[in-house]
Amino acid sequence: MQLKDKVAIVTGGARGIGRVIALGLASKGADIAVVDVNLKEAEKTVQEIQALGRAAFSLEMDVTDYIKVEEGINKILDKFKKVDILVNNAGITKDSLLLRMSDSDWDVVLKVNLKGTFNCTKAVSRQMIKQRSGKIINIASIIGIIGNPGQANYSASKAGIIALTKTAAKELALRNINVNAIAPGFIQTEMTAKLSLELREKMMSAIPLKRFGNPEDVSAVCLFLASEDANYITGQTIIVDGGMVMV
Ligand code: NDP
Repeated sequence: MQLKDKVAIVTGGARGIGRVIALGLASKGADIAVVDVNLKEAEKTVQEIQALGRAAFSLEMDVTDYIKVEEGINKILDKFKKVDILVNNAGITKDSLLLRMSDSDWDVVLKVNLKGTFNCTKAVSRQMIKQRSGKIINIASIIGIIGNPGQANYSASKAGIIALTKTAAKELALRNINVNAIAPGFIQTEMTAKLSLELREKMMSAIPLKRFGNPEDVSAVCLFLASEDANYITGQTIIVDGGMVMV
């Protein structure tokens, strides 16, 4: 029970990696606010957390809207009185080659992935500064490090998250707040299920450990970064990709 009675917010916690992170944090003793645009699915995650014996509630919140984010964080504070852990996980893709990429596909991916991470970090760090403690974990991607054809918007958003992580870590360090990122490789979720067989085979050939990742691989690192064992780590991006990218 490394995280006993800690309070965590997980954005995009309704499904995929966010859902597994929320369950993982709860299994270590944390109470969870599951934040998502998909309230119906978020409620299912909440029920799974409650079955583990922890408190949880779902909140319909679009991370792109700062006013809504602030309102949402206030609701969470009314209920749980504090926030110890924020996992900025909500993210989307809208892939196409650069020359064919529409303005709206560029804007919406930057808005959800990068601005959403900024909005939640800003709103939650106000509270963490008062508490003089906190852990913020941003879900980036290896694509933000190496780039990927067809993902100009996504790669830029994830590179932005890595840079934001470093700046926030430097600004918040004196208040005892750690800010780190995780850069997953190919993780099996609904987001990657839509990729073609050809692309999946190409990806597999580049993975030294010869398997796709699962959300639990990402969650394990997130639980570590959220714990006191990671107190001396800040501003870092931990790659979880079976060895695809070695820096
Ligand atoms: P999923 O698409 O399975 O889940 C993402 C969740 O975020 C969904 O519940 C989605 O709701 C929600 N969401 C989308 N937009 C918003 C928003 N504006 N506000 C709040 N919630 C929102 O994705 P994954 O689990 O695969 O990915 C999770 C994170 O991990 C993302 O940041 C992704 O970029 C990153 N990642 C994933 C990798 C992978 O291989 N899967 C690899 C590297 C990084 P809804 O579906 O209703 O829109």
